[in-house]
Amino acid sequence: MPEVETIKEDLRELVLGARVEKAEVLYPNLVEQPSPGEFVRRLEGTQIIGARRRAKHLIVELDSGDALVFQLKIGGQLLLVPPVEEPQKNLMLLLHLDAERRLFLRDQTEFSRARLLDREELEGRLSTLGPEPLDGWFEENGAQYLRETLSPRRAQIKPLLLDQKVVSGIGNIYVDEILYDARLHPRRKANTLSDEEWGRLHAAIRENLAAGTEHRGTTVRLYRDVLNRAGEHQSHLRVFEKTGEPCPVCGGKVVREKVGGRPTHFCPACQRESGPEGEKELTLG
Ligand SMILES: [Zn+2]
Repeated sequence: MPEVETIKEDLRELVLGARVEKAEVLYPNLVEQPSPGEFVRRLEGTQIIGARRRAKHLIVELDSGDALVFQLKIGGQLLLVPPVEEPQKNLMLLLHLDAERRLFLRDQTEFSRARLLDREELEGRLSTLGPEPLDGWFEENGAQYLRETLSPRRAQIKPLLLDQKVVSGIGNIYVDEILYDARLHPRRKANTLSDEEWGRLHAAIRENLAAGTEHRGTTVRLYRDVLNRAGEHQSHLRVFEKTGEPCPVCGGKVVREKVGGRPTHFCPACQRESGPEGEKELTLG
Protein backbone atom coordinates (compact mmCIF):
# COMPACT_ATOMS: atom_id res chain seq x y z
CA MET A 1 0.00 0.00 0.00
CA PRO A 2 2.76 2.59 0.65
CA GLU A 3 3.87 2.02 -2.94
CA VAL A 4 0.40 2.77 -4.36
CA GLU A 5 0.13 5.77 -2.04
CA THR A 6 3.41 7.12 -3.41
CA ILE A 7 2.36 6.63 -7.05
CA LYS A 8 -0.97 8.34 -6.31
CA GLU A 9 0.83 11.36 -4.86
CA ASP A 10 3.12 11.47 -7.91
CA LEU A 11 0.14 11.40 -10.29
CA ARG A 12 -1.53 14.23 -8.36
CA GLU A 13 1.60 16.29 -8.68
CA LEU A 14 2.49 15.43 -12.28
CA VAL A 15 -0.59 14.66 -14.41
CA LEU A 16 -3.56 16.35 -12.75
CA GLY A 17 -5.41 18.31 -15.43
CA ALA A 18 -3.78 16.41 -18.29
CA ARG A 19 -5.92 15.29 -21.20
CA VAL A 20 -5.77 11.71 -22.53
CA GLU A 21 -5.45 12.32 -26.27
CA LYS A 22 -4.97 8.72 -27.26
CA ALA A 23 -4.86 5.36 -25.48
CA GLU A 24 -3.17 2.17 -26.66
CA VAL A 25 -3.70 -1.18 -25.00
CA LEU A 26 -0.53 -3.13 -25.76
CA TYR A 27 -1.42 -6.18 -23.67
CA PRO A 28 -5.15 -6.94 -23.99
CA ASN A 29 -5.30 -9.14 -20.85
CA LEU A 30 -4.50 -6.02 -18.85
CA VAL A 31 -8.08 -4.78 -19.27
CA GLU A 32 -10.55 -6.66 -17.10
CA GLN A 33 -13.51 -4.37 -17.71
CA PRO A 34 -14.97 -3.29 -20.15
CA SER A 35 -13.66 -4.72 -23.47
CA PRO A 36 -10.29 -3.28 -24.57
CA GLY A 37 -12.03 -1.48 -27.45
CA GLU A 38 -14.57 0.21 -25.21
CA PHE A 39 -11.85 0.93 -22.65
CA VAL A 40 -9.91 2.92 -25.26
CA ARG A 41 -13.02 4.69 -26.64
CA ARG A 42 -14.13 5.85 -23.19
CA LEU A 43 -10.63 6.97 -22.19
CA GLU A 44 -9.76 9.06 -25.22
CA GLY A 45 -10.58 12.75 -24.88
CA THR A 46 -11.05 12.65 -21.11
CA GLN A 47 -9.25 14.87 -18.64
CA ILE A 48 -7.57 13.56 -15.48
CA ILE A 49 -9.18 15.43 -12.59
CA GLY A 50 -8.05 13.44 -9.56
CA ALA A 51 -6.08 10.52 -8.19
CA ARG A 52 -6.78 8.56 -5.05
CA ARG A 53 -6.06 5.26 -3.44
CA ARG A 54 -8.30 2.71 -1.73
CA ALA A 55 -6.53 -0.37 -0.38
CA LYS A 56 -4.12 -1.32 -3.18
CA HIS A 57 -6.33 0.18 -5.91
CA LEU A 58 -4.95 3.23 -7.69
CA ILE A 59 -7.92 5.28 -8.86
CA VAL A 60 -7.50 7.90 -11.60
CA GLU A 61 -10.61 10.10 -11.76
CA LEU A 62 -11.71 11.40 -15.15
CA ASP A 63 -13.95 14.31 -16.07
CA SER A 64 -16.28 11.88 -17.85
CA GLY A 65 -17.29 10.47 -14.45
CA ASP A 66 -15.44 7.22 -15.14
CA ALA A 67 -12.53 6.05 -13.01
CA LEU A 68 -9.46 4.33 -14.41
CA VAL A 69 -8.57 1.78 -11.74
CA PHE A 70 -5.20 0.04 -11.63
CA GLN A 71 -4.03 -2.89 -9.58
CA LEU A 72 -0.28 -2.84 -10.06
CA LYS A 73 0.30 -6.02 -8.01
CA ILE A 74 4.00 -6.84 -7.57
CA GLY A 75 5.53 -5.59 -10.80
CA GLY A 76 3.47 -2.79 -12.33
CA GLN A 77 5.25 0.49 -13.00
CA LEU A 78 3.58 3.70 -14.19
CA LEU A 79 6.24 5.84 -15.85
CA LEU A 80 5.89 9.40 -17.14
CA VAL A 81 7.82 10.18 -20.34
CA PRO A 82 9.46 12.70 -20.26
CA PRO A 83 11.28 13.05 -17.86
CA VAL A 84 11.66 9.25 -17.71
CA GLU A 85 13.32 7.71 -20.75
CA GLU A 86 10.88 5.79 -22.94
CA PRO A 87 10.63 2.17 -21.77
CA GLN A 88 10.86 -0.46 -24.52
CA LYS A 89 9.86 -3.80 -23.04
CA ASN A 90 6.98 -5.36 -21.10
CA LEU A 91 4.59 -2.56 -22.01
CA MET A 92 0.91 -3.04 -21.22
CA LEU A 93 -0.69 0.38 -21.73
CA LEU A 94 0.28 3.71 -23.24
CA LEU A 95 -1.63 6.92 -22.58
CA HIS A 96 -0.70 9.85 -24.82
CA LEU A 97 -1.27 13.00 -22.78
CA ASP A 98 -1.28 16.61 -23.92
CA ALA A 99 1.99 18.58 -24.02
CA GLU A 100 3.77 15.64 -25.70
CA ARG A 101 3.82 13.59 -22.53
CA ARG A 102 3.07 9.88 -22.31
CA LEU A 103 2.22 7.64 -19.37
CA PHE A 104 3.42 4.04 -19.77
CA LEU A 105 2.37 0.99 -17.78
CA ARG A 106 5.20 -1.53 -17.79
CA ASP A 107 5.07 -4.87 -15.97
CA GLN A 108 7.43 -7.75 -16.60
CA THR A 109 5.31 -10.03 -14.38
CA GLU A 110 2.18 -9.19 -16.47
CA PHE A 111 0.05 -9.38 -13.30
CA SER A 112 -1.12 -5.75 -13.44
CA ARG A 113 -4.79 -5.21 -14.22
CA ALA A 114 -6.86 -2.17 -15.24
CA ARG A 115 -10.56 -1.37 -15.28
CA LEU A 116 -12.59 1.59 -16.45
CA LEU A 117 -15.57 1.87 -14.12
CA ASP A 118 -18.49 4.23 -13.77
CA ARG A 119 -19.34 5.54 -10.31
CA GLU A 120 -21.67 2.69 -9.40
CA GLU A 121 -19.26 0.00 -10.57
CA LEU A 122 -16.44 1.62 -8.62
CA GLU A 123 -18.55 1.81 -5.48
CA GLY A 124 -19.44 -1.86 -5.83
CA ARG A 125 -15.85 -2.86 -6.33
CA LEU A 126 -14.61 -0.98 -3.25
CA SER A 127 -17.52 -1.82 -0.95
CA THR A 128 -16.13 -5.12 0.36
CA LEU A 129 -12.75 -3.71 1.42
CA GLY A 130 -11.80 -3.47 5.07
CA PRO A 131 -10.86 -0.21 6.83
CA GLU A 132 -7.85 1.88 5.81
CA PRO A 133 -5.17 1.35 8.45
CA LEU A 134 -3.78 4.90 8.30
CA ASP A 135 -7.03 6.83 8.58
CA GLY A 136 -8.37 8.42 11.75
CA TRP A 137 -11.10 5.86 12.31
CA PHE A 138 -8.62 3.00 12.46
CA GLU A 139 -6.24 4.98 14.65
CA GLU A 140 -9.05 5.46 17.14
CA ASN A 141 -10.87 2.14 16.88
CA GLY A 142 -8.48 -0.26 15.16
CA ALA A 143 -7.39 -2.30 18.18
CA GLN A 144 -10.96 -2.96 19.22
CA TYR A 145 -12.03 -3.60 15.62
CA LEU A 146 -9.27 -6.18 15.10
CA ARG A 147 -10.10 -7.94 18.35
CA GLU A 148 -13.83 -8.03 17.69
CA THR A 149 -13.47 -9.06 14.06
CA LEU A 150 -10.71 -11.62 14.39
CA SER A 151 -10.76 -13.08 17.91
CA PRO A 152 -13.63 -15.48 17.05
CA ARG A 153 -11.52 -16.91 14.21
CA ARG A 154 -9.33 -19.98 14.54
CA ALA A 155 -7.36 -19.11 11.39
CA GLN A 156 -3.68 -18.13 11.44
CA ILE A 157 -3.03 -14.44 11.98
CA LYS A 158 -0.84 -13.84 8.91
CA PRO A 159 -3.36 -14.88 6.23
CA LEU A 160 -6.08 -12.95 8.09
CA LEU A 161 -4.03 -9.74 7.92
CA LEU A 162 -3.48 -10.24 4.18
CA ASP A 163 -7.25 -10.56 3.65
CA GLN A 164 -8.27 -7.20 2.16
CA LYS A 165 -11.78 -7.59 3.60
CA VAL A 166 -10.30 -7.50 7.13
CA VAL A 167 -7.86 -4.59 6.78
CA SER A 168 -7.05 -3.10 3.41
CA GLY A 169 -3.62 -2.46 2.01
CA ILE A 170 -1.34 -4.91 3.86
CA GLY A 171 0.91 -6.89 1.51
CA ASN A 172 3.39 -9.72 2.03
CA ILE A 173 6.41 -7.55 2.82
CA TYR A 174 4.70 -5.38 5.42
CA VAL A 175 2.83 -8.21 7.13
CA ASP A 176 6.08 -9.97 8.08
CA GLU A 177 7.49 -6.74 9.51
CA ILE A 178 4.22 -6.01 11.35
CA LEU A 179 4.13 -9.44 13.00
CA TYR A 180 7.78 -9.07 13.96
CA ASP A 181 7.13 -5.75 15.72
CA ALA A 182 4.02 -7.17 17.41
CA ARG A 183 6.11 -10.22 18.50
CA LEU A 184 3.50 -12.58 17.06
CA HIS A 185 4.29 -15.84 15.31
CA PRO A 186 2.72 -15.76 11.82
CA ARG A 187 0.92 -19.05 12.56
CA ARG A 188 -0.68 -17.86 15.80
CA LYS A 189 -4.38 -18.61 15.79
CA ALA A 190 -6.37 -15.37 16.00
CA ASN A 191 -8.52 -16.75 18.83
CA THR A 192 -5.45 -17.10 21.10
CA LEU A 193 -4.36 -13.44 21.11
CA SER A 194 -4.59 -11.43 24.33
CA ASP A 195 -5.90 -7.86 24.55
CA GLU A 196 -2.33 -6.66 24.88
CA GLU A 197 -1.34 -8.52 21.72
CA TRP A 198 -4.22 -6.98 19.75
CA GLY A 199 -2.97 -3.59 20.94
CA ARG A 200 0.58 -4.35 19.82
CA LEU A 201 -0.66 -5.61 16.46
CA HIS A 202 -2.71 -2.46 15.91
CA ALA A 203 0.28 -0.22 16.70
CA ALA A 204 2.60 -2.28 14.49
CA ILE A 205 0.23 -2.10 11.49
CA ARG A 206 0.07 1.69 11.69
CA GLU A 207 3.77 2.22 12.35
CA ASN A 208 4.97 -0.01 9.53
CA LEU A 209 2.59 1.36 6.89
CA ALA A 210 3.28 4.95 7.95
CA ALA A 211 7.04 4.36 7.78
CA GLY A 212 6.72 2.66 4.37
CA THR A 213 4.75 5.64 3.07
CA GLU A 214 7.22 8.13 4.51
CA HIS A 215 10.04 6.25 2.77
CA ARG A 216 8.13 6.28 -0.56
CA GLY A 217 7.62 2.53 -0.67
CA THR A 218 9.74 -0.61 -0.59
CA THR A 219 11.77 -1.66 -3.62
CA VAL A 220 12.74 -5.28 -3.13
CA ARG A 221 12.67 -5.92 -6.86
CA LEU A 222 10.42 -4.10 -9.29
CA TYR A 223 8.62 -1.24 -7.59
CA ARG A 224 9.37 2.23 -8.99
CA ASP A 225 7.57 5.56 -8.63
CA VAL A 226 6.23 7.56 -11.59
CA LEU A 227 9.68 9.09 -12.17
CA ASN A 228 11.33 5.63 -12.13
CA ARG A 229 12.89 6.11 -8.70
CA ALA A 230 13.20 3.23 -6.24
CA GLY A 231 11.61 3.43 -2.79
CA GLU A 232 13.71 3.65 0.35
CA HIS A 233 11.91 1.48 2.87
CA GLN A 234 13.83 -1.70 1.93
CA SER A 235 16.77 -0.49 4.01
CA HIS A 236 14.48 -0.41 7.07
CA LEU A 237 13.30 -4.05 6.86
CA ARG A 238 14.25 -6.33 9.75
CA VAL A 239 12.97 -9.78 8.73
CA PHE A 240 11.54 -9.76 5.20
CA GLU A 241 14.00 -11.70 2.99
CA LYS A 242 16.58 -11.60 5.81
CA THR A 243 16.75 -15.40 6.11
CA GLY A 244 19.80 -16.46 8.16
CA GLU A 245 20.61 -12.91 9.22
CA PRO A 246 20.58 -11.91 12.90
CA CYS A 247 17.38 -10.62 14.48
CA PRO A 248 18.06 -6.98 15.48
CA VAL A 249 16.47 -7.57 18.89
CA CYS A 250 17.83 -10.95 20.09
CA GLY A 251 20.59 -11.78 17.60
CA GLY A 252 18.98 -15.14 16.73
CA LYS A 253 18.59 -16.15 13.10
CA VAL A 254 15.66 -15.06 10.98
CA VAL A 255 13.96 -18.05 9.34
CA ARG A 256 11.82 -18.46 6.26
CA GLU A 257 8.83 -20.80 6.05
CA LYS A 258 5.62 -20.96 4.06
CA VAL A 259 2.57 -19.75 5.94
CA GLY A 260 -0.77 -19.69 4.17
CA GLY A 261 1.09 -20.46 0.94
CA ARG A 262 3.24 -17.32 1.18
CA PRO A 263 6.97 -17.07 1.90
CA THR A 264 7.19 -15.83 5.48
CA HIS A 265 10.11 -14.46 7.48
CA PHE A 266 10.26 -14.23 11.26
CA CYS A 267 12.41 -14.64 14.37
CA PRO A 268 11.40 -17.88 16.12
CA ALA A 269 12.83 -16.61 19.43
CA CYS A 270 10.99 -13.27 19.49
CA GLN A 271 7.82 -14.59 17.83
CA ARG A 272 6.92 -17.78 19.67
CA GLU A 273 4.27 -19.99 18.11
CA SER A 274 2.70 -20.86 21.44
CA GLY A 275 2.44 -17.21 22.45
CA PRO A 276 3.25 -16.00 25.96
CA GLU A 277 0.44 -17.98 27.57
CA GLY A 278 0.59 -21.20 25.58
CA GLU A 279 -2.06 -22.40 23.13
CA LYS A 280 -4.85 -21.70 25.61
CA GLU A 281 -7.91 -20.59 23.71
CA LEU A 282 -10.03 -17.76 24.99
CA THR A 283 -13.56 -18.71 25.90
CA LEU A 284 -15.92 -16.43 24.08
CA GLY A 285 -19.26 -15.57 25.56
ZN1 LIG B 1 14.65 -12.19 17.77
